[in-house]
Amino acid sequence: MLNDLFINVLLLIAVTFVAGHILKDVPEKIIITLYGKIIVGVGGGLMGILLMIYTIQVTGTTTILDLRFFAIMMVSYVGGIIPTIVSGIIIGIYRAVRFGINISCIAALFQILLFIICFHIIDKKIKAEWKKWFLKTLISLVILIPIIYYLLRNVENVQIICFEYFLVATFAGALEYFLLEYVHGSNELYRIYKKDSTKDFLTGLYNTRQFDKMLNLAFERVLENKGKLSCFMIDIDHFKKVNDTYGHSIGDIVLKELAYILKKNCRRIDVVGRIGGEEFCVLLFDCPKDQTFSIALRINKAVEKYGFNIGEDKFINITVSIGVAIYPDTTSNLEAIKEEADMALYKAKKSGRNRVCGSEICIHQ
Ligand code: GH3
Ligand code: MG
Ligand code: MG
Repeated sequence: MLNDLFINVLLLIAVTFVAGHILKDVPEKIIITLYGKIIVGVGGGLMGILLMIYTIQVTGTTTILDLRFFAIMMVSYVGGIIPTIVSGIIIGIYRAVRFGINISCIAALFQILLFIICFHIIDKKIKAEWKKWFLKTLISLVILIPIIYYLLRNVENVQIICFEYFLVATFAGALEYFLLEYVHGSNELYRIYKKDSTKDFLTGLYNTRQFDKMLNLAFERVLENKGKLSCFMIDIDHFKKVNDTYGHSIGDIVLKELAYILKKNCRRIDVVGRIGGEEFCVLLFDCPKDQTFSIALRINKAVEKYGFNIGEDKFINITVSIGVAIYPDTTSNLEAIKEEADMALYKAKKSGRNRVCGSEICIHQ
């Protein structure tokens, strides 16, 4: 019996790591949607079924013993009441279909219902995760062991069975909690590091490294599809003055709000990055020359008109200069598109700032 329950413990450990690995790349905001919660519930239900496949049928009875309640506890830990109900229903249906409807099955369905209600109450009343887990394990055993005892009352070594089950479940509960915390913590770190390695911490735009990766991908895509690529190099005019006059933290606010304006004026598929202190770069796909210049001008005007909130209901205005390069219209060398946009930016700065320049024209309204 101990050996068989041990297989259940090993399965729990394996599934925890596999599920953690699968959920690693799923953002938290997806898990908290109804759809995400149902998926988590189905996963928990499948895990419960797996544990029941390796269930232990007590000789001469219809009673089966396994650690399936941990599957319900795990999904309750990850997503609350909805996945708990979904996994409970799946486990209940499988129990009834595979082992038939008898007194043990009705007891099992009743237990599942009790688990769902108790877990929900614990989630509502208790804040600390470890206390929740401890209470859920305790309540599950308080519900399960008397029922097991009652169902096996005619079996010779019923006390030993109950005691061994209690021991293994307590051990599994403690181990599972540490594993869940470990997997949850390392997934959080993984997400943070992943985000930090691609996004600029201040503005949330792509950082230089990621922007260059996206640029190389853009080259491949454009050459493959014989498409167009437009590039804007954007630099704030006299930004040093903003820092000197209002302080570095106000400068940071301006950078953040400028990032917001750039995002708002670009499409979702466009690539927007912060590639230097107050320098930004934008890539547009398959945008004709006229449209490229009108978008650049739209950004230029949007910045000029925008009141940057520097606190206490005070607003300041800034301007930007934009250098534009378009493959194949203004440059035939795709790989030098950023450098060409940079040269056009230099031209915009030299010819008076607050304007949009390409290799041949400068527009200023
Ligand atoms: P120009 O019109 O020629 O571009 O003038 P400028 O003052 O904008 O350019 P310059 O290169 O002389 O100064 C850029 C300034 O950007 C200097 C630096 O303090 C500021 N800067 C760079 N990164 C950050 C940042 O992360 N936060 C803040 N607040 N300022 C930054
Ligand atoms: Mg500048
Ligand atoms: Mg600069």
